[in-house]
Amino acid sequence: MTRSTFKPRPEQMALYPDVSGNTINGLGDAERRQPSYVYWGNSPDDVAHGDVQRWFYTVDPGLDGYGVERARRAAIIDAPLTPLAETPRAVTEADFASFTQAGLEAGDFDKIGVAAFDPVWAFEGVEIGFKHVVVMGFHHDFEEISKAPAPEGGLEVMRQYRRAAQGAITVANWLRAQGWEAEPLTGPMSGKMTMIPAALASGFGELGKHGSLITPEFGSSFRLSAVLTDCPLPLSAPVDHGIDDFCLNCRVCEDACPPEAIAPNKQLVRGEVKWYVDFDKCLPFFNEHQGCAVCLAVCPWSRPGVGPRLADKLERRRSRKALEQP
Ligand code: SF4
Ligand code: SF4
Repeated sequence: MTRSTFKPRPEQMALYPDVSGNTINGLGDAERRQPSYVYWGNSPDDVAHGDVQRWFYTVDPGLDGYGVERARRAAIIDAPLTPLAETPRAVTEADFASFTQAGLEAGDFDKIGVAAFDPVWAFEGVEIGFKHVVVMGFHHDFEEISKAPAPEGGLEVMRQYRRAAQGAITVANWLRAQGWEAEPLTGPMSGKMTMIPAALASGFGELGKHGSLITPEFGSSFRLSAVLTDCPLPLSAPVDHGIDDFCLNCRVCEDACPPEAIAPNKQLVRGEVKWYVDFDKCLPFFNEHQGCAVCLAVCPWSRPGVGPRLADKLERRRSRKALEQP
């Protein structure tokens, strides 16, 4: 499949609503506001593209692993959470560091950070009363994700969503055992909040031209889950590795995207000028290829071992430039 040969199936296109997904996403809107549900609505009936969302599940990937992974994830999500301990206990920085280090070593999650919750991250119509959000990252196996857009790539995404569900529940259960209310949130359904801004605030890297996060350790090759809590955990700081500038001079994902959905320039979306993928162009291909993920796999930052080296190089260049300033 090349970008010039992709033609969406007419039976899929017949299901699209009159409204553009870009309009729902707030493309061109100057006002900073909560996001609206556009896809992966918690119920397809909640979104204008609900019939298209139902159609996604009719595409047979031809791999048994999809059903297995979906069932495993459902069992994880359906299991009861640890009962809330009666009295909240103070969680020190050292307690949290020791818990997260053990979780990283055990592979419960591959990255973790904490941000103060910003109500604008909640979807329109959703109220979230928690003060903090813990964000976790789950690294794709590069060899498997590189098979995208073949179904094996999508299966790797499913595996990481299953790990993401388990990771969020592990963190929520630990917090609940300390006496702090905690609510796990996990994809692929939209849930209550958009996770990318929370991940940016939690030190997960920067937004790439392909509209996904890039972090030096994993590039774009990871999934997220989150836990909402009132436990006063140590907050992480946002990071700047110069990835945003790097994207200005790179067009690997733009060239690789089969339906040409990735724009060369940033755009205004709900009051913020940022990288944005054309929803209406991406979705038909995404739907016919089990979630696609080509842009995540081809990003140079996603190649094993490359991201940290690139980050070091950009940091050295930045330091050199700072020294050259009069
Ligand atoms: S996921 Fe969407 S934006 Fe990314 S390569 Fe596929 S079609 Fe393009
Ligand atoms: S492929 Fe290049 S332009 Fe696209 S997100 Fe990655 S670094 Fe940025």
